Amino acid sequence: MKLVRYKHDGVIHLGVVADGGVVCLDDSGFPTMLSLIQAGQSGLDRVNDLRASGAAALSLDDVALLAPIERPGKYLAIGMNYAKHLEEADKLGVARAKYQTWFNKQTTCLSGPFDDIEPGPTDKLDYEVELAAVIGKPAKQVLEEDARHHVFGYTVANDVSARDWQFHTPTFTMGKSFDTHGPIGPWIVTSDEIANPHTLALRCFVNGELRQSNNTGHMIHNLWAQIAYLSAAFTLEAGDLIATGTPEGVGVGMEPQSFLQPGDVVRCEIDGIGAIENRVSARN
Ligand code: MG
Repeated sequence: MKLVRYKHDGVIHLGVVADGGVVCLDDSGFPTMLSLIQAGQSGLDRVNDLRASGAAALSLDDVALLAPIERPGKYLAIGMNYAKHLEEADKLGVARAKYQTWFNKQTTCLSGPFDDIEPGPTDKLDYEVELAAVIGKPAKQVLEEDARHHVFGYTVANDVSARDWQFHTPTFTMGKSFDTHGPIGPWIVTSDEIANPHTLALRCFVNGELRQSNNTGHMIHNLWAQIAYLSAAFTLEAGDLIATGTPEGVGVGMEPQSFLQPGDVVRCEIDGIGAIENRVSARN
């Protein structure tokens, strides 16, 4: 199933995509995406019943899709997780790490799948298409072979980055967390529809020009290893977001470097999930 949050006539709702439209889930008993995720399979069964009930669907053209999860507890992202992107990072002087490289995107950075990206105080605005996983059943000290059971679903993420601010300090946090620098969506595809998250083609376009094209099968540390590593230290809770890394082709790695400018349109897409498209707004 494809689960959405959307605004219609000024009111925010949960919905499920059916027949190219959106069926409202106001009658599901779940006021938020997080509450639906926390309900586990019984929540999905309820949604499926409503989807099959024949309730009228709104056209996707008549609603404004929002970030499919409103405010997760954590938004974690791994860096340097595709081999050729690692080569780009080498040229920038980023030290190769022995362990998985994790940083936080502050959850206030989240924005909708078609919302504008506000540049903020950076001169080096950049894009990163990534597969993002949404945690379902809480995970603590999970083995790789069990990790799949803790994923509720998947969405497309653009790990928008302010490269100058990213390298102010070694933690990356400042440059990864500007408001509006976390567009996700357009929906959460439940994990039962993604047989293997490590076979998905992903692409990023800037103004229609293909900049990134790769496959999630080329991750250095796959999602199961990521969940095992993170959950060895702390609990991953329902709704937590994990961005699984970006392949080569980012603007900072181009020769000459090419950063996003006001008016540019960035499209991130993953086969089997969907696409998000965000325009860079004027500087305030
Ligand atoms: Mg990234």
